Amino acid sequence: MQVKRHVAVVYRAYPNRGQCALIERTIGCARFVYNQMLADRIEHYKQTKESLRNTPAQYKDRFPFLKEVDSMALCNAQLHLNRAYSRFFKDPQHVGFPKFKAKHKAKPSYTTNCIKGNIRLEDDGRYLRLPKLGRVRVRQHKRIPDDRVLKSVTVQHTRSGKYTMTILFEYETQIPEPRAPKYFVGLDYSSHDLYVSSDAEKPDYPRFYRRTEQCLAREQRKLSHMQEQSNNWYRQKTKIARLHERVRNTRRDFLHKTANKLVGQYDCVCVEDLNLQAVSQSLKLGKSTMDNGFGLLRDMLAYKLEKHGGCMVKIDRFYPSSQLCHDCGYKNTDTKNLSVREWDCPQCGVHHDRDVNAALNIRDEGKRLIS
Ligand SMILES: [Zn+2]
Repeated sequence: MQVKRHVAVVYRAYPNRGQCALIERTIGCARFVYNQMLADRIEHYKQTKESLRNTPAQYKDRFPFLKEVDSMALCNAQLHLNRAYSRFFKDPQHVGFPKFKAKHKAKPSYTTNCIKGNIRLEDDGRYLRLPKLGRVRVRQHKRIPDDRVLKSVTVQHTRSGKYTMTILFEYETQIPEPRAPKYFVGLDYSSHDLYVSSDAEKPDYPRFYRRTEQCLAREQRKLSHMQEQSNNWYRQKTKIARLHERVRNTRRDFLHKTANKLVGQYDCVCVEDLNLQAVSQSLKLGKSTMDNGFGLLRDMLAYKLEKHGGCMVKIDRFYPSSQLCHDCGYKNTDTKNLSVREWDCPQCGVHHDRDVNAALNIRDEGKRLIS
């Protein structure tokens, strides 16, 4: 089957001084337009009880500095605002009303779209040509195949002081016909080890954050003794952001490798459809849950499996995987207590490791659902 797919590639960029200034200005203008439009919509609604359809072009006469920056960045600010509104109207119970973007809180980035090839990679991928900015030096780590079409670019000034360009490519691909899976595996979520598989395997999961944590705590303490918004304070903030960034990158790398290994070994992966946010908030496991990125692993597995003709099965989150005895199906409610790591089945007497038993149940439930 021929399908369209998108892939985002992050490039590190090295803009010159003038380009840096223009990037900052564009980010500022996008934020300004977003806030201005939001304010006007709120005001208009208060007065007329009707919604206002405003566009960035209407502001260009009143604020001429908006003409100096990439107009697509402003259009995207409008799209972002529209999306914030529609998300709110769809589910007002859970999604808040659009908020104003604060200068030091909002993500410092802007997005621009490719129109008639105005954005392109040049000199064998050494430069990226962008509207208004011109040629920006970028670093490419792998060659992009020629059939990929450049759709948009998000320019970001990271908290650690670097510039990145995230390029979105579109391409057509043949996804292999899903074959009847042969090799099944169940993964039971574990906040300590990331997961335990039905073959009793755990990834060799390094807890990056914990390791860097002491280092971070020390640097945070230093920051708290500094004069806010002084030069030293800003320098220290950058240092902390760099530490966070390193943790994030190492973790992502590890998750990619783990997912690739699983995809190579199995063609059907069964996982629980857990609400990880709820887990991290309720069980005092916040730090390790946030740290280990099981949700990201699940997403990576889903698309990597699809690429290879495998599949992923999500088990209902209320399926009592850790309570059922895998050998006889007896439901042992004692195991609701998370501190029970091992147990003997009261009915058939088989000795169980809590996590492996749960993973086996998840695997078999997945098998049942798919057939
Ligand atoms: Zn049993």
